[in-house]
Amino acid sequence: MKFGTKAVHAGVEPDPTTGAIMTPIYQTSTYVQAAPGDHKGYEYARTQNPTRSALEKALAELENGKFASCFGSGMAATDTIIKLLKPGDEVISTNDLYGGTYRMFTKVYAKYGIKFHFVDMQDMAHVKAAINENTKMLWLETPTNPLIRIIDIAAAVDIAKANKLMTVVDNTFASAALQNPLDLGADVVLHSMTKYMGGHSDCVMGCLIVKDAELDAQIKFLQNSCGAVPGPQDCFLMLRGIKTLGIRMRAHCENGEKIAHFLRNHPKVGKVYWPGFEDHAGHEIAKRQMKGFGGMISFTLKEDSMENALKVLSGTHLFALAESLGGVESLIGHPASMTHASIPKAEREKSGLSDTLIRLSVGIEDADDLIADLNQALG
Ligand SMILES: *Cc1c(COP(=O)(O)O)cnc(C)c1O
Repeated sequence: MKFGTKAVHAGVEPDPTTGAIMTPIYQTSTYVQAAPGDHKGYEYARTQNPTRSALEKALAELENGKFASCFGSGMAATDTIIKLLKPGDEVISTNDLYGGTYRMFTKVYAKYGIKFHFVDMQDMAHVKAAINENTKMLWLETPTNPLIRIIDIAAAVDIAKANKLMTVVDNTFASAALQNPLDLGADVVLHSMTKYMGGHSDCVMGCLIVKDAELDAQIKFLQNSCGAVPGPQDCFLMLRGIKTLGIRMRAHCENGEKIAHFLRNHPKVGKVYWPGFEDHAGHEIAKRQMKGFGGMISFTLKEDSMENALKVLSGTHLFALAESLGGVESLIGHPASMTHASIPKAEREKSGLSDTLIRLSVGIEDADDLIADLNQALG
């Protein structure tokens, strides 16, 4: 089945009691048992909820996995994966990554004795050099945030398998429509569904998707033990959002391509970061592992100053100045002060993130209107 069809149909069946075509919001905390232990598979709603189960089933199908688990946010999903580790274990992570993930690794889990190495994974030699007998996990984000670099998932998986490491891919930027890391051998796919998967900027949620039953059991144990589960209303919104994921991503990709070229040809724009350009360092890998180049674009100005960057950031009308990404509406952001403020300036600069970088999440509006908006803001 092709992706657009799967997005509409995955995980959902007519409600068995009424025939309702949409999965109801099972707004309940518990379920009545006929006799102790005699129940219909649902005991307590932290552990199982039918609305959440339908969403988890859908997500597993969309990522070509077998099992999915949903969490109250993307960070709660990340938290669950790191809890699979123990003191002394080490993780090798991409150095250009979501600021909140960097914060959790360095400010929360480092003090529990887990060590994180941040390396430029565009060159796998950096990964190999960081491996030692304590290394347990590779943490990938691709395309990276906010420099839109591409990491070769299959190459990372090769190294991970040779060294018995778990490979986790934060697939938030690509979404399940454009990239399926489990197909490339990754062990875990993570989404901040707050972004493209939900797609409507109305809900915060995260998920983990795996193929391996034993790994799923460990994740489900943590999901139930630690309790960071989403409510049924939010699961309903996500189920509704993912129905249009295929068609939305097509629109994001089409608009992204037009805007990337518009920016590149604009006299006031300096560098444009978008993997669809043939001279982008990761273009060939992106063509191989992604079904489209997405709607995330970063750029700098030719006259590179904070003052000029701020003028553009506050000069757009359609592009809203806001954190987050992946919604139907276009957003403009300033990573250094917004999404990546939790990464120290020295670390940001080491990974190539300048204070004047501007990031766009290109929405699904008409491209002509978006281009006119950017044009006036640049003028
Ligand atoms: C937003 C984001 C997260 C965190 O997700 P929340 O839903 O905000 O907790 C993790 N990774 C990436 C790439 C993100 O963009």
